[in-house]
Amino acid sequence: MVVGAGVIGLTTAIRLREAGYDARIVAADPPLATPASAVAGAIWYPYRSVPDSRAEGWGCLSLDVFWDGALAGLPGLTIRPMVELLPEPMGEPWWADVARSFRRPGPSELPDGYVDGWAIDTVLIDVKPHLAHLLARYTAMGGTVEIRRLDKLDELDADLVVNCTGVGARGLVGDDDVQPIRGQVVRVRGGEVNRVTMVERGPMPLTYIMPHGDECILGGTTDSGEWDRTADDRVTHEIVQRATTLEPSLAKAEIVEVRVGLRPGRSSVRLNKEGRVIHNYGHAGNGWSLSWGCADEVVRLTRDSVG
Ligand SMILES: Cc1cc2nc3c(=O)[nH]c(=O)nc-3n(C[C@H](O)[C@H](O)[C@H](O)COP(=O)(O)OP(=O)(O)OC[C@H]3O[C@@H](n4cnc5c(N)ncnc54)[C@H](O)[C@@H]3O)c2cc1C
Repeated sequence: MVVGAGVIGLTTAIRLREAGYDARIVAADPPLATPASAVAGAIWYPYRSVPDSRAEGWGCLSLDVFWDGALAGLPGLTIRPMVELLPEPMGEPWWADVARSFRRPGPSELPDGYVDGWAIDTVLIDVKPHLAHLLARYTAMGGTVEIRRLDKLDELDADLVVNCTGVGARGLVGDDDVQPIRGQVVRVRGGEVNRVTMVERGPMPLTYIMPHGDECILGGTTDSGEWDRTADDRVTHEIVQRATTLEPSLAKAEIVEVRVGLRPGRSSVRLNKEGRVIHNYGHAGNGWSLSWGCADEVVRLTRDSVG
């Protein structure tokens, strides 16, 4: 039994079914209404490093899966150039060898105030169509989703339980290390944007622009410990302003939607087995980027446990 229907629960349930287990999902929120997965931008990118030696392998494997999916034309996946802008020269990041086509942007690619950058080609994920695709793939294999909020994992009558509850793990298993990291994003239509741009160092707070067709997702915020999912109009205005400084063509874009989500923050990802429970939560701002690798790890732990 997999608890949770975000990207972590769905990829886990798909891999378990592919491995021959009769995995089923129970979740308080369906995939398209999940607190984190359905709100994210999202891109494959090691946004803020994950302090776990296994993360490089998880990230690498997930990139391969998304990349192949984009080449195969799966819903919501496209390959795009991306740049993280740096206000001062910096060395290579640890993931330079993992990412595709790592390079330094030329001066013409840097807006005022930025002297360096890390540029890659990456996979951009339009999360709602892609979650719908994952759900369809899972149900086509005989999987079901029961909508139910659990108070305790003990309520489940199953040989093995996989806990993929994101920020919900704080209450469900009493893990005080789990903290919501609130993120607000703005979907706009218009502008001529071809690459993903991200800033998280320097005077400008975390800002990103992710083009999806004639729309862009603009972000963002990272408010630790904040559970309130009400959109803040002032923050919306600031996000659009900062993004327009980086991509002036956004000045003519119109706001289509504002969404607020809760990243499952934790000091590190919890992916281990305890009794009949495998935990797979706490991916913070990296859940999409680590998802397939973590799902494979759950299958390994399942095989070790039940054969
Ligand atoms: C604004 C924003 C931008 C982001 N951008 C990126 C990005 O660019 N790249 C990237 O890799 N990641 C990004 N992330 C992070 C990523 O979205 C998360 O790490 C990931 O979605 C976590 O997935 P999850 O399935 O663990 O959690 P969720 O998607 O929150 O799903 C949790 C599931 O557990 C269920 N659940 C919880 N408690 C219970 C309970 N008691 N009983 C039953 N079910 C329960 C919920 O109903 C839900 O189905 C972003 C996140 C946000 C918010």
